[in-house]
Amino acid sequence: MNKKHNFSAGPSILPQEVFQKASDAILEFNDSGLSILEISHRSKDFVAVMDEARAIVKRLMKIGDDYEVLYLQGGASLQFLMAPFNLMKLESGKAAYLDTGSWAAAAIKEAKKLGKVDVVGSSKEENYSFIPKDFKVGPEYDYFHFTSNNTIFGTQVHHFPDVDTLKVCDMSSDIFSRVIDFNYFDIIYAGAQKNMGPAGTTLVVVKKDILGKTGRDIPSYLDYDLHIKKESMFNTPPVFAVYTSLLTLQNLEKNGGIEAVEKINNQKATLLYDEIDRNPLFETFCKKEDRSVMNASFKLIDESKKEEFDAACKAAGINGLNGHRSLGGYRASMYNALPLESVQLLVDVMKNLK
Ligand SMILES: *Cc1c(COP(=O)(O)O)cnc(C)c1O
Repeated sequence: MNKKHNFSAGPSILPQEVFQKASDAILEFNDSGLSILEISHRSKDFVAVMDEARAIVKRLMKIGDDYEVLYLQGGASLQFLMAPFNLMKLESGKAAYLDTGSWAAAAIKEAKKLGKVDVVGSSKEENYSFIPKDFKVGPEYDYFHFTSNNTIFGTQVHHFPDVDTLKVCDMSSDIFSRVIDFNYFDIIYAGAQKNMGPAGTTLVVVKKDILGKTGRDIPSYLDYDLHIKKESMFNTPPVFAVYTSLLTLQNLEKNGGIEAVEKINNQKATLLYDEIDRNPLFETFCKKEDRSVMNASFKLIDESKKEEFDAACKAAGINGLNGHRSLGGYRASMYNALPLESVQLLVDVMKNLK
């Protein structure tokens, strides 16, 4: 196979070793004479996978037993609804949201179905080109919700705001990419398919003592407490997505954990943004201080170069560089598994464009 350089925003690149091990397990899992796709999720072998998939998240995040780790379905999109169901008070419910992009807006839309939503900061009027910073959130709010990395617009929250209520974060596109204090958060959720595994499962990390305070009768699947009690086995979990996520996290741990990958992620981003800034043919969409280390959105200043640049990218084996349909231009997603060499190759193609 002639492997491409995959800059896709999601589903996205995973380590080659993970693809190999996942393929092996489809054919035969743990010398059992069975595929991982045909064993019971209640079998000893799969329960061990789920237990380790939950435990490794705690190790990588350096969080204690006051947190629970869940693997659910429905994507980050279901969490837009599920988080409010578990935190928004029944009668007087009120939450603060930061509106930093399409995903944040989608989360706001769902939360409004359950209570009052105050958008405490928004960059919508300026095409989501920056992260609003000048806002206050007091204890009158049930929780504060924000998106740590805006996958489409290419901005990222580099300093977590000091707010006086529970903190809920959609970390879909930068989870496990940088060293942060995970103990800052009360709920973290992430669709696996950006930086930690294949599509099909959603990681939820929740602080246990915040639950059960809304007065709501929560539908079973939407109740974090129920999933905690059932250890992510309330119903049949997405076994293959959980297993492959575990392989990805084991690969991360083996290679030095978040500390090690953060260094490489910063190198990749610096390499690309330096070229965009230097090269008179390109520009970014967003404010320099808020640029994302994961997803760099940029465009050609002179659109007439598009055909030539696209052809050069294609010839170099570069995949997935088209910008999101709502923004246009280009987007280089530089998730954990993307090697520095792929970014170097893209930069070379940009340099050669005259
Ligand atoms: C991709 C993405 C989503 C949507 O995730 P699904 O798992 O497809 O529901 C939500 N938030 C962010 C930040 C994303 O990048």
